Amino acid sequence: MYIPTIGLEIHCELKTNTKNFSSASNTYSDIPNSNLATVDLGFPGILPVINENGVKQSLKMALAMHCEIPEYMTFERKNYFYPDLPKGYQITQFHHPVGINGYVMIHVNGEDKKILIHDTHLEEDTASLDHYGDYSLIDYNRAGVPLLETVTEPCMHSAEEAIAFLEALRSIFLYCGTSEARTDRGQMRCDVNVSLSTTENCLGTKVEIKNVNSFNNVKDAIVSEIKRQTEILENGGVVLQETRRYDENQMCTHLMRSKEDAIDYKFFTDPNLPPILLEKKWLEEIKAEIPSLQYERITMYMLEYGLSRYDATILVKEKEMAEYFEETIKEGADAKAASNWLTSVILGHMNKYEIPITKLFLTPKMLVELIELVSSDKISSKQAKEVLYQSLEEEKSPVTLVKELGIEQIGGNEEILAVVKEVFAENREAKAQYQAGRTNIVDFLVGQVMKKTRGKANPATTRKLVQEEIVKGE
Ligand code: ADP
Ligand code: MG
Repeated sequence: MYIPTIGLEIHCELKTNTKNFSSASNTYSDIPNSNLATVDLGFPGILPVINENGVKQSLKMALAMHCEIPEYMTFERKNYFYPDLPKGYQITQFHHPVGINGYVMIHVNGEDKKILIHDTHLEEDTASLDHYGDYSLIDYNRAGVPLLETVTEPCMHSAEEAIAFLEALRSIFLYCGTSEARTDRGQMRCDVNVSLSTTENCLGTKVEIKNVNSFNNVKDAIVSEIKRQTEILENGGVVLQETRRYDENQMCTHLMRSKEDAIDYKFFTDPNLPPILLEKKWLEEIKAEIPSLQYERITMYMLEYGLSRYDATILVKEKEMAEYFEETIKEGADAKAASNWLTSVILGHMNKYEIPITKLFLTPKMLVELIELVSSDKISSKQAKEVLYQSLEEEKSPVTLVKELGIEQIGGNEEILAVVKEVFAENREAKAQYQAGRTNIVDFLVGQVMKKTRGKANPATTRKLVQEEIVKGE
């Protein structure tokens, strides 16, 4: 048996107005080669200017991943040639990145686990290449877009852990508002390192799989690479250190280059970009902007509100949903009731019509009112479900609907008790008959109460009150 070990390097584009070192805009969907500055094209003599917001977003991420932040950070040049890199080097961080030694919590197979972050650093994206038959096209719009690279320690041991980490990381980007982190737009991409070993305290030779572009492919790439390496080792061979790429059609990896061909990037500090002092006060301000994250919210929902992990996980999937849920609690809702309505009828409606929770007609306050109608026995939970469906469809508040439909029950004990007493007064012989053995007279009396209230008395409460009254002596 071999123990697989996985380490990930994740690139994610940051959400800023302009690029990391030029004033060209950072947008996804413009016509090719329309968002450009000379800096992005690598013209001779260019002078990059650091984007303050790019630095801020990357610091926010580093702090959210519990990283240590250096006193000052530097930018280095990573030198290599490729057609998508007009300058002949990428501006990145090597000696003093925005964050080191952090961690991200995940929950897999019933257990919490800390995924260790080696470092996270700010760099620039390359241009994008599109390959056709015998020619390729370059789009420089992407060149210079701020990119945050996060490098984990080799500390994951299954594809499930790797995916759970990627999902946790994406959610941190979304919760912090630092990236849309859409894999379908190539905003989040991943290099996957896999090795096998026979003992826990010694790592095997790693193979790097470059640029895997969806979480599904990450999973499949890990599974197929573990299989490939296992076969090599079982046949008495040795795994070679190399870089491979994942082929999603054949569901296996292919060799790109071996260790001998590894590139020497000759990192050196970019002479055009001075070191940046990171003031404590600024860091505190940025930290204050980080919202409570998925993992913390799940823990809180379970401990404070008694929700199951399953429901808590659904509620925190999107920050806006978590905020909606918390708002209902602030407005006085019972947490379990709010969670039940949100994760069933409301989520079902949102999915059916593809409505985000921010566009939902039903406000947290309306949901609280609906919950109160049920808890005060004004409507049954079955009626509440129908009212909620109708409310979402017709965009009318539950309270208005209940009034319009005239289905509000008389739920208060006192109100019903008054009617019960009235009915007993009109049927003076009832108690004697009951004592003489005619127990079904209860049904008759309940029926009388329902008649007087035109069906609006809560049946269960009515029956209870009639029973209590009938066993009392004259
Ligand atoms: P390199 O010097 O080749 O870039 P690093 O030590 O910087 O290697 O690690 C790069 C990535 O590879 C990191 O994500 C790290 O977790 C991962 N990694 C390193 N060694 C192993 C290993 N033996 N097995 C799996 N992943 C590894
Ligand atoms: Mg490295």
